[in-house]
Amino acid sequence: MTNMLYRGRFAPSPTGPLHFGSLIAAISSYAQARKQNGTWLVRIEDVDQPRCDATSTKLILEALEIYGMQWDENIVYQSQRDHLYQTALDILKSKNLSYDCACSRKDINVNAEYNSNLIYPGTCKNGIKNNKQARSIRLHTNNEIINFNDKVQGYYSQNITKDVGDFIIKRADNLFAYQLAVVVDDEEQNITEVVRGSDMLDSTARQILLQQLLSYVTPQYMHIPLATTEDGNKLSKQNMAPPINIEDPRPTLISALTFLKQYPPTDLRDCNIETIWDWVINNWSIKAIPAKLSIPYNETND
Ligand SMILES: [Zn+2]
Repeated sequence: MTNMLYRGRFAPSPTGPLHFGSLIAAISSYAQARKQNGTWLVRIEDVDQPRCDATSTKLILEALEIYGMQWDENIVYQSQRDHLYQTALDILKSKNLSYDCACSRKDINVNAEYNSNLIYPGTCKNGIKNNKQARSIRLHTNNEIINFNDKVQGYYSQNITKDVGDFIIKRADNLFAYQLAVVVDDEEQNITEVVRGSDMLDSTARQILLQQLLSYVTPQYMHIPLATTEDGNKLSKQNMAPPINIEDPRPTLISALTFLKQYPPTDLRDCNIETIWDWVINNWSIKAIPAKLSIPYNETND
């Protein structure tokens, strides 16, 4: 029986085929949802349209199927959901929680000489000066401190104004910012738990703040360690990320489970994909996943 309460999702950006790093996030969210007899959704995060392409979407969906991960309900595409993001933006505007900003990236760089993280200094918070043109829309933050307990990484706390600054919710190129889109989608799809790579850990506080300001429910969060090269760089096509095997998904699936410290038995390699998933769902343990932001990939060959 399906647990109506648990709703998880895998939300790739279609900027290339599924690679080992994104496969780990997919497997984790799928196992977590199936373990609770919950619903598992796929959302294509193509809000940043210039960086995305339809071929990548097709390749990602094909890979998920080959790897035995079947989604429930229809796939949602961010590129088709502007009306939902606009409604959320209108609510923030009506509460005076957003403001127009005329600053370019260069303007912020100049003002923030000593600030390598590009924290927005609030230049346009009290109105745009010198008749400059509005470019983007920012969230009006107010030193909110956001705390949450990540199911893998543990306690996390951030002062948004100090650590990030008033962040962009609608971009200068007129696209909705990812931070706003993801929050609207998680609410609209009633997501109860977000399982994703640890590169998103730092964005989570911004997303929780938006949820609070929009009176949305905050889901649970679980950030999985990233697979890196031995020198700590994120796996990518450029640094020879191990390709995921599309002909036979089993060896890569076993490697991913080993990476996640689920210790699959050796003879599982010879089983069919359904049997492997039965084992995963029966034995899935989030306690076994290391509370690390990243793990060099070849550590999994232990
Ligand atoms: Zn500005």
